Amino acid sequence: MKYDLLLRSARVVDPSNGVDAEVDVGISEGKIVEVGEQLDAALAGALVDLDGLTAIPGVIDTHVHIRGPAHKMMALAGVCTALDMADGGDVLRAMPELGAGLNVAALRTMPAYPDDPPGTDEGKALVEEALAEGAIGIKLIGGHNPSSPAATQKFIELANQMRSYVAFHVGSTETGSHLRGLLEAVELAGDNCLHVAHVNSYLRGITGDPAQEALEGLAALAEKPNLVSESYLSIINGTGGKIGDDGLPTSHVTRNCLKMAGYDPDRDGLGRAIADGYGLVQIEEGGQTVLVTGERGVAIWEERDTDVSMSFPVNKPEASFLCATRKDSRGNFVVDAISTDGGGIPRNVAVEYGLALVRYGALTMDEFVLKVSSAGASMLGLHDKGHLGAGADADITVIDEDLGIPVMTVVGGRVVMAHGIVYGSGGTIITTARGEESARATGLEVKVVDPEDFLLFNKR
Ligand SMILES: [Zn+2]
Repeated sequence: MKYDLLLRSARVVDPSNGVDAEVDVGISEGKIVEVGEQLDAALAGALVDLDGLTAIPGVIDTHVHIRGPAHKMMALAGVCTALDMADGGDVLRAMPELGAGLNVAALRTMPAYPDDPPGTDEGKALVEEALAEGAIGIKLIGGHNPSSPAATQKFIELANQMRSYVAFHVGSTETGSHLRGLLEAVELAGDNCLHVAHVNSYLRGITGDPAQEALEGLAALAEKPNLVSESYLSIINGTGGKIGDDGLPTSHVTRNCLKMAGYDPDRDGLGRAIADGYGLVQIEEGGQTVLVTGERGVAIWEERDTDVSMSFPVNKPEASFLCATRKDSRGNFVVDAISTDGGGIPRNVAVEYGLALVRYGALTMDEFVLKVSSAGASMLGLHDKGHLGAGADADITVIDEDLGIPVMTVVGGRVVMAHGIVYGSGGTIITTARGEESARATGLEVKVVDPEDFLLFNKR
């Protein structure tokens, strides 16, 4: 058999190879063998007719949170490859049990240093630990749990020196998770490379009009070629409901959300926000994460001693739209990729809402593919992903353009999801040479990437 799998008669959109045509895709041993007209079905072990559907290079979501049923939820959303933005090796170790056949890389959150920065040895040890457990780098979560500007800068510098991926949810003890935090992040990065996480989420109108904030924030990003970034399109955010010993939400983002809607940023205020339907408590139900609010939401929040993940409808569509579509003077997108900040948070909508932008004329189909797949491949240094040329990984997202939804997810030539049913299990860990041993210890497949290939260290 020349092909293990033959995908027949899809509209294939692969801008990297200049393809937008109704063709067949031949796959063997997890790789694309051939894309062309009328490939011989007699040479195929299995045939799937995709007439009327569209096949694009597999979606790469560069900002997710993998917990609970996240793998399954991502497979359902057409995601082939994902970057977890918090839990490092924990995510990788849980994959044999929870995986849905996807490719996963992870970052490890660094502890907060609200005062003095860590010493060089201490900081280096934390980064090394993250890399050794299989993470490709570190995440700084200033906006939720701020560090001082000096400590933030120290981690960015160390990560650059150590060639560790470094992403930042902006905000410090001097600013917060808003436009001023974003402008500060640009300053703190200096000449170092930095992934600015979910750009849209700092443009919620806390310091002024959200569209104006977006234009100002994007202009600052456009001037700095050493920054990579993604933004998402969902209206709901992701944060925590935990109340600390001081009676306040431990996450500063949660405090902001409460203030934005006129609630006191304390325990009573959060309880009222949930009761009123503004605060949405995430629970696992029927194999997915769902949002619960009102009396039931309050009951669950209290039952779990306030330690729940939560969402609030705080993202501004005008800011998200600008982040998704804005280009610089050379015609390049200011924000590299469309992500979701989803995973286990029920908002894996990059395909669904990205296609809405295509229908609206805000993105071309080629640009959509660039933003949901090719950009992510560059960001993670994955030369064999983000396109469908011969020899590329057979990671394919199949879309029903009429319905505007993903209907099939193929990873490494295996169908992990079709028409709402998830078939995949396990998966592949994407790590660096420094995390290979830990990754292999899971028993899963491992793909080793070279940090020098990360867009982060190459954009300049
Ligand atoms: Zn996030």
